Amino acid sequence: MCIFCKIINGEIPSKKVYEDDDVLAILDISQATLGHTLVLPKKHYANILEIPTDEYQKVMKKVKELAEKINKNLKPAGINILNNCGEAAGQTVMHYHVHILPRYTNNDLKIEFTDNSSNADLDAVLKKINN
Ligand code: 5GP
Ligand code: ZN
Repeated sequence: MCIFCKIINGEIPSKKVYEDDDVLAILDISQATLGHTLVLPKKHYANILEIPTDEYQKVMKKVKELAEKINKNLKPAGINILNNCGEAAGQTVMHYHVHILPRYTNNDLKIEFTDNSSNADLDAVLKKINN
């Protein structure tokens, strides 16, 4: 059983931000920023590619509500919403979850995009995506 399933069934303790029949939100143990929250479905799906759309929508509805609540009560300067899908993308727990990361300064979390557009053939990639 995965670590989040153990949290869901109470085998491992967690700080619960929100819970209903389908969705659980907990404080991330690492607290990359203050209030760093994970929102997950109670049923085990490995990632965004595996979770059925209706379950996905339940999770994302709570992501929005909790982002609003965190924004209101922690008053961050900004918020990142993040999902890692697959090991190459940084996923370490293979139970679908969404990170809510309140941001207090421009530098309190490093999420870096490099401009690789000079190497990209946009028409070719468009064709591939939509084939
Ligand atoms: P990922 O890298 O898969 O997107 O994120 C997994 C997250 O789960 C990490 O940020 C990590 O700190 C968090 N995490 C791992 N184990 C536990 C745990 O036992 N309890 C809680 N609350 N968070 C955990
Ligand atoms: Zn699981």
